[in-house]
Amino acid sequence: MAALREPRGVQGDEALRKDAVEQATRHLVQPWPYAGSAGAEARTLIGEGDGIYITDDAGHRLIDGPAGMWCTNIGHRREEMAQVMYEQAMQLSYNTPWYTMNAPSAELARRIADHAPGDLSHVFFTTGGSSAVETALRFMQFFNNVRGRADKKLILSRGGAYHGSTYLSASLNGRPRDRDWMDGADDLVVKLSSPDPFRRPKSLSVEGFCDALVEEFRSTVERIGAERIGAFVGEPVQASGGVILPPNGYLKRIREICRANDILYVSDEVVTAFGRLGSVFASGDVFGLDPDMITFAKGVTSGYFPLGGVVISERLLEELRRSNHPDAMFAHGLTYTSHPIGCAVALKNFDILENGLLAHTREVAPYFQSQLRTLEDLPLVGEVRGLGLMACVECVADRESKDPLELDKDVGKRIDAHCQELGLLVRPLINMCVMSPPLVITRSQIDDLVSILREGIVRTMEELR
Ligand code: PLP
Repeated sequence: MAALREPRGVQGDEALRKDAVEQATRHLVQPWPYAGSAGAEARTLIGEGDGIYITDDAGHRLIDGPAGMWCTNIGHRREEMAQVMYEQAMQLSYNTPWYTMNAPSAELARRIADHAPGDLSHVFFTTGGSSAVETALRFMQFFNNVRGRADKKLILSRGGAYHGSTYLSASLNGRPRDRDWMDGADDLVVKLSSPDPFRRPKSLSVEGFCDALVEEFRSTVERIGAERIGAFVGEPVQASGGVILPPNGYLKRIREICRANDILYVSDEVVTAFGRLGSVFASGDVFGLDPDMITFAKGVTSGYFPLGGVVISERLLEELRRSNHPDAMFAHGLTYTSHPIGCAVALKNFDILENGLLAHTREVAPYFQSQLRTLEDLPLVGEVRGLGLMACVECVADRESKDPLELDKDVGKRIDAHCQELGLLVRPLINMCVMSPPLVITRSQIDDLVSILREGIVRTMEELR
């Protein structure tokens, strides 16, 4: 392959920059637009990325605080990723997965199975996280149809959850603003409480809160009837809900109720898999769980290629094989299932994680968490929480009452605006700032991130005074 060219950013090319802004404003529909600005919105234009940094259109270098969307785990602009894409494209850029297969997807499935907990042994590849969750749910429906349990299809999910933007996956979402103006398959989904210890009822200890959540789950299963519930879908750490770490022991207790009631436990690891918590899968390694299915995306290619998937338990597949319906078809497939370039990219990404990046993440994560927690001395900060290289700074109007800033719901956006000026991109979520930098971040870069975030919060406090 010819030497890779230097990236061509938009900095210094005023005409290119103006064109991009104008064309976006006229023709691009951005994700999550408000009705008032739909189809007429320009956002910060990013010209290039390098390591943990991205550079905006004014040539201003920013730490990529959210790692894109929790995904650029190995960092931006890695030559070996460009190389592997080029090589795979020159060898085989696509094959139909309907009646042929390719070697990179087979090898990737094997490597994923090697790391997956319990008897999770087979992988169905998708194009991202929503299609992974959708696939897991359609598989559950098929599984129960084949077993003659056509009524066992309801899905349990929780407040604070985010599982995607396709119809069924989005129906599971538990953040109010995700559902306020959108329809969903509400007849198929039963919502439970968010496992957020910070927002637990004042009368309960964290242990008491955990008991209450488990009891809510148990009594819901009893009320509705296990024969009508097909699956529970949950993120081990609710990411977009604000990095919500459930109380100790909660996930395992829910897992046991699912097992006892023949309810499939789907662990949505779209954010947590492939390094964010220091392991390939957090379900087993961090939380001691053995789910029936795990969904993944994002970190599997570190955002270099759109890829996701579901890892499925051997037990479920064996039950299908032994069913009375050997010819029943799981009529589900995507044109880009097992995409050879995506899978080759994921294999290279896997090498990088295994050759030191997982170990590096485990090494720097405690420092990242402890440095961020120093922000708790600021009066605007109600709590800093997190695990591995994901964290959330939650702002409150009053630390005693934990009043979530009713008066200023845009506090996250204000902090982000100040931080962008200072050199850090923040992911603002109403009154929260989420941090999930590329895993390649070093200690001194963590220091930079935390000191900019501190200054951004201080400036916001002054503004709100
Ligand atoms: N599941 C979780 C836990 C997520 O955080 C996301 C996206 O942020 C999704 C699913 C949907 O993934 P995608 O945006 O790749 O469709």
